[in-house]
Amino acid sequence: MQTFVALTPQQPTASAEADLVFISRAVQMTDVFFSSLPSWWLQLASAVVVMGVVAVVSCRLQGYRAAAVAVAVPREIAVAAAANSAPALQPKSVNYHFTRQCNYTCGFCFHTAKSPSHLPLESAKRGLHMLRDAGMEKINFSGGEPLLIDDGEHLGQLCRFCKELGLFVTIVTNGSLMTQEWLRRYAPFIDIVAVSCDSFDDSTNKKIGRWDKTNPEKIHKDKLFEIATWCLKFAVGLKINTVVNSYNCDEDMSAQIISLKPIRWKCFQVLEVEGENKRRGSSKALRNAGKFLVSQEQFDAFLLFHKNAACCPVAESNAVMRSSYFLLDEQMRFLDCSTGAKVPSVSIFDDLPRALAESGFAPREFKARDGDFYEHMTAKPPAAAQAVAYEKEEQQSDSKQRSEHAKCRQHRVSRTPPVSACDVVPDW
Ligand code: SF4
Repeated sequence: MQTFVALTPQQPTASAEADLVFISRAVQMTDVFFSSLPSWWLQLASAVVVMGVVAVVSCRLQGYRAAAVAVAVPREIAVAAAANSAPALQPKSVNYHFTRQCNYTCGFCFHTAKSPSHLPLESAKRGLHMLRDAGMEKINFSGGEPLLIDDGEHLGQLCRFCKELGLFVTIVTNGSLMTQEWLRRYAPFIDIVAVSCDSFDDSTNKKIGRWDKTNPEKIHKDKLFEIATWCLKFAVGLKINTVVNSYNCDEDMSAQIISLKPIRWKCFQVLEVEGENKRRGSSKALRNAGKFLVSQEQFDAFLLFHKNAACCPVAESNAVMRSSYFLLDEQMRFLDCSTGAKVPSVSIFDDLPRALAESGFAPREFKARDGDFYEHMTAKPPAAAQAVAYEKEEQQSDSKQRSEHAKCRQHRVSRTPPVSACDVVPDW
């Protein structure tokens, strides 16, 4: 809490000096009070309330400039209090969007190609190590399209590194660049592969932009079915991610979802994010999600239809999506989406506690979306031993591999829902 005064502007003009002295004294007086409070969240709440009072009083006594300064201070106080106080936010589950580049052009994309860069492998590993030491248990690699960098080598090496750190490792991909050889090689280090699929209708996928225009002969849904067989073969869990939007909200996807047997089918309501798929002030966005939007009623109807068809979708509405993720960008800054835009934190390399405090993460929303579902699964063991064992297994027959996979699924997933019980087990 001693940082408050330092957070006011560093070089005030002479005319503002009296205002700043007034604000500083008020803040110092409250310091004693804050330090006597037993928990960080009480400190945080009290800080905001007290500074609100300071703003009002200073407005009356010292003029509007002082009020403006005082109003700017609470956010800094909130961040500093959260960063300095124990317990700090624990980044149990992190989504690392290490690239924004993608070979698809989905019209509602909310992580667009605004930057061409990604961190070198060794820097990325250093950051992931820091996060593991701060409490990370699960890492999800995403993009953009994560297989686009170095023909998938970058992603594969990161998966291997994180498995060696003992993490639960998942990836999200559009699937178009995945090969059987890539998955065979890196499967020992991956617990779940999530493939994005909004439709099993080719024309709908083209309208959405879920296709590679440079490779028009590749059919998105065909690739998904291919990946499903590889996942089975190499004992990797398959997850499917669907963005419910105006083009697919009336589609019946149940037959294909049931035949693919994903361990989890996640359905997101298409989300507008300023600066990504929605214009923000004068700055342009690379996409415009406007024509894809669906109402809450349309989203609920899609879910209900598929629940009744025993597909058991896991729902994620806009409200839940905004603050239930630790989103890490290509520079290893957390992105705070709680205000409808992606506001970057400081880099974790500069100040990890502060970056966490600026992440916009809400533990309650994380719980609400069942973000800790992986705790009910058994992760693959750290990689080295597993990889050796896997190479031996590879010599054995396909049928043996299938039975290994069945066992793996059995012990990895502790809750197997009865076919018709998705309303009882909505998170499957
Ligand atoms: S697959 Fe589509 S939604 Fe995903 S990153 Fe690429 S363009 Fe965006």
